[in-house]
Amino acid sequence: MTEKDILSIFREHQALKEGHFILSSGLHSDRYIQCALVLQHPRIAEELCVELAAKLGQLGASVVVAPALGGVIVAHEVGRALGVRALFTERQNGAMTLRRGFHLERDEPAIVVEDVITTGKSTRETMECVEGAGGKVVGVGSLIDRSGGKVDLRVPRASLVTLNVETYEPDNCPLCKAGTPAVKPGSRPGASSVVSKS
Ligand SMILES: [Zn+2]
Repeated sequence: MTEKDILSIFREHQALKEGHFILSSGLHSDRYIQCALVLQHPRIAEELCVELAAKLGQLGASVVVAPALGGVIVAHEVGRALGVRALFTERQNGAMTLRRGFHLERDEPAIVVEDVITTGKSTRETMECVEGAGGKVVGVGSLIDRSGGKVDLRVPRASLVTLNVETYEPDNCPLCKAGTPAVKPGSRPGASSVVSKS
């Protein structure tokens, strides 16, 4: 699959939208990515993650770790493709933690995966969590890198699609200045509400 094929899968499932959006960070953007709309189809999730796994397999990891919730399906499917364990981290009192009895061997080679890398913040936190648990992060993978490849995580990194998505402070958003209504993609089921900037 080429980047173009993958982007058309995302567009087809409304997982990549163009317009004027308020992201969960509060920043505005002309594109919105919601991987869950693609990953809700297990066969497509499997197909995409087989592609991602192919880019990560040579790193020799024996475990894949992702931050919940967004990364869980990606870890599961990449883990399946590589024939290794798939773990997830969860926030506990704000800190990324391995719970549920998940365990890493000393220096166990691990890959951290995400659905989307934006700033790399949650990826970094997951990497720290893995290293804190004794593992060794040998690489990072994501379905989409929306930082344009700018995020440096100091380990080999692979993505199926690299996008350079501009984000704007609400006070400095050219789309707001142009008078386009901003949409806050729904956290309620199936909903997305139009938010006018006051
Ligand atoms: Zn705006």
